[in-house]
Amino acid sequence: MSEEKSQAKLLQERLFSKKKNGMLRLSADEVKSVDSFCENYKRFLDQSKTEREAAKVSIELAKAKGFTEFDPDKTYSAGDKVYYNNRDKSVILCVFGTEPLEKGVKISAAHIDCPRLDLKQNPVYESNELCLLKTHYYGGIKKYQWPTIPLALHGVIFRADGSRVNVCIGEDESDPVFMVTDLLPHLAQEQSKRTLSEGIKGEELNVLIGSRPFNTDEVSEQVKLNVLSILFDKYGIVEDDFVSAELEVVPAFKAKDVGLDRGLVGGYGQDDRVCAYTALEAILQCDKPKTTCITVLTDKEEIGSVGNTGLQSAYLKHFIFFLAEKAGTTCPMVLNNSTCLSADVSVAFDPTFPEVCEPKNASYCNYGVTVCKYTGARGKSGCNDANAEFLSYVRNIFNANSVIWQTGELGRVDLGGGGTVAAYIADLGVDVVDVGVPVLCMHSPYEITAKLDIYMAFKAFYTFFNN
Ligand code: MN
Ligand code: MN
Repeated sequence: MSEEKSQAKLLQERLFSKKKNGMLRLSADEVKSVDSFCENYKRFLDQSKTEREAAKVSIELAKAKGFTEFDPDKTYSAGDKVYYNNRDKSVILCVFGTEPLEKGVKISAAHIDCPRLDLKQNPVYESNELCLLKTHYYGGIKKYQWPTIPLALHGVIFRADGSRVNVCIGEDESDPVFMVTDLLPHLAQEQSKRTLSEGIKGEELNVLIGSRPFNTDEVSEQVKLNVLSILFDKYGIVEDDFVSAELEVVPAFKAKDVGLDRGLVGGYGQDDRVCAYTALEAILQCDKPKTTCITVLTDKEEIGSVGNTGLQSAYLKHFIFFLAEKAGTTCPMVLNNSTCLSADVSVAFDPTFPEVCEPKNASYCNYGVTVCKYTGARGKSGCNDANAEFLSYVRNIFNANSVIWQTGELGRVDLGGGGTVAAYIADLGVDVVDVGVPVLCMHSPYEITAKLDIYMAFKAFYTFFNN
């Protein structure tokens, strides 16, 4: 005899929201797809530690899938695939749809810049027979997290004659690494009285790069001379060439599985390369969509989407303008009918610090990709705050296509806050909502995401493009 359910129980089942760990909703085959997808994702993370590297790798992957460089003079037809390279730091990928362009485009926009230490313009100095590099951090970091971890140096240098050198030291197993030093606890009595945000100060983020003198000649700064001599031999650069360089100091760690069950991915730069990779894969797997689809991998989000490679600039609008012109319509017409998933990460609930989240509206690892109606701070200030009409559309296509998803917000009300590119895309007259992967230890040198959530982000962007 089966027990009969009470009236209240039946009504509860009908009316209450049912949240469930996504892993309990996947078949064994689906778990295999999740895990194999994340093997490629980890490779992407290791190859893409700067925005320039992420742009380059993305273009290579796109070319392999038949994308060609965008030509504004050319007329494209349904199924054509193009990429637009904006100064090697941001990329637009586009697959032309079967419907007329004036019906709008679908955009997924992720950022490929990440918090890091940038070298200053005159970085090299010797002090007490050690050679160091001065840095200025980029984006929101907790400065105390950056000393005493192995660091790598990535970037570009332009020599006096205008020729370019690509730099990448610290990633190969045989490479040396660099480090920001910290005090031993025995002598940190005074330092320990500092606040956490001042524990390591900005001007203390100096990167140790050398320790041996060049030779026995009686000249000053022999250690710096030795370092510059090594750089000259390897790259043909002199000290003044740092003036026309963009060099980024990033963690030298490789991406790895985290946890005995291998359910999580640990790696540097997952905000926002986890959404960049998933939005990239989604467009690469787009064949002949109804609507024209666009993935934007943008730069400078971490410092306010500024500069001509950030989304406050007109480069996306200009791209749409070129498309519109060729299609015999106008840019405002296309943009007014367009929709966008702002593909950026959200905060994952951390059981060690539960007090910063409001549990009913927090995102959880393995509960799927997060849909975030609003970000902002102190009364949603500065955010996009997506329209209910657009949320309704997103919710319906996700549910109809078995995308496991959850909602989220950027922590408790009035505790902090932040923003994404959503607000700048909304400025173009496009309907937009934030959709992305929840992250633990966001903006730290080693961030954590759940494999299920990564795969569901891919599925979400793919579903958006094809529905
Ligand atoms: Mn982000
Ligand atoms: Mn960020």
